[in-house]
Amino acid sequence: MASGDSTKRRLTILGSTGSIGTNTLDVIDRLGGRDRFEVAALTGNGNIPLLAEQARRLGAELAVTADDNLYQDLKSALAGSGIAVAAGRSGLTEAAERDAGWVMAAIVGNAGLAPTLAAARRGADIALANKECLVSAGSLFVDAVKMGGGRLLPVDSEHNAIFQVLENDQRHAVERIILTASGGPFRTKSLDEMRHVTAATARAHPNWSMGLKISIDSASMFNKALEMIEARHLFGLNPEQIEVIVHPQSVIHSMVGYSDGSVLAQLGCPDMRTAIGYALSYPSRCDLPVERLDFAKLSRLDFEAPDEIRFPALRLARRAMESGGVQGAVLNGAKETALEAFIKGRAGFLAMAEIVEKVMDALADLPAAATMDDVFAADEKARQMAAGLIR
Ligand code: NDP
Repeated sequence: MASGDSTKRRLTILGSTGSIGTNTLDVIDRLGGRDRFEVAALTGNGNIPLLAEQARRLGAELAVTADDNLYQDLKSALAGSGIAVAAGRSGLTEAAERDAGWVMAAIVGNAGLAPTLAAARRGADIALANKECLVSAGSLFVDAVKMGGGRLLPVDSEHNAIFQVLENDQRHAVERIILTASGGPFRTKSLDEMRHVTAATARAHPNWSMGLKISIDSASMFNKALEMIEARHLFGLNPEQIEVIVHPQSVIHSMVGYSDGSVLAQLGCPDMRTAIGYALSYPSRCDLPVERLDFAKLSRLDFEAPDEIRFPALRLARRAMESGGVQGAVLNGAKETALEAFIKGRAGFLAMAEIVEKVMDALADLPAAATMDDVFAADEKARQMAAGLIR
């Protein structure tokens, strides 16, 4: 049981300085802040001023920067506060292992896997924003959560929507799930136009305000590709039960189709605080001052089939799901490397999918992962190979 004041909920936020992290803090503030919550640990990477401000404001016990080089900066920023400070991989693990019943997993990318796994293994409820945990480690991650005894609470808006529907209806009769996708900023652009786009235009998501990498992943639809794999593991589905539909307004967050032909959906204004609040208050609902849907003003809801020629990421996700094994880790490792290169102007927008496909071709015969070390090894191989292609 958590230590400290037993009337308060103890929690940790991995990635508190990011888009999901700051939204989580906003929800915590609105639900009572320090009167209702006790913060065991907060982690960030480069944004030391924000991390220190958050830790002081919420009275965190421990603040961690993932960057070893910034340890002294964080220590100075928290001098006199009594807040413990740590850095690097071991610091992230220390934060994840600290006694807290609820952990928000909001570190971006594969860097979030090890600390989230540490929290899962000790039995914390995991509010999962970091989809890479399921994309790379799949059933190994799900098994770790089960063995730890905590709950897996999806925060990705699409998966949170499906989770909400499934809480209220019969899981055994699920025929398919339909993930909605906004289509991103290049939904109507031609292949030729997409060839020349920059990170600055790719990051401008039409509906959601998110971190840099997920915004660009939304533009390439790699975000949706990761979400397909995430959904497969979260909900125990076969690849053919997972559909994607482009829905530019992002009002329907996703849908579940049943064996009697019914389709149930969760709707709302695009605001991550609804999904975060649901995961924080689960199984209850909380009061949040997010914008309400006004159906009278909402003149139309549009839908279109995704174009897998312009957005090959979706095809690659299906291929990774069908091959199984470590192909999710390979896809993600190669994608993160290609994305980094695109952000730095060293690879074109369309080259990202080409690089991922080549790496998947080359590593198609890697055996399935028996342990997490196999997952990390596959991820590393994919990164090296992708880096070689970019050079
Ligand atoms: P951001 O880039 O906004 O934030 C990422 C967080 O991770 C920050 O706290 C950052 O620290 C920290 N971080 C960065 N690099 C490292 C590293 N190497 N090791 C440890 N920590 C690191 O990302 P988002 O909040 O947008 O996304 C977080 C996760 O949630 C991603 O997996 C994303 O796919 C998922 N997600 C996000 C959604 C959104 O609306 N943003 C929606 C659904 C899912 P610092 O800022 O201090 O450098």
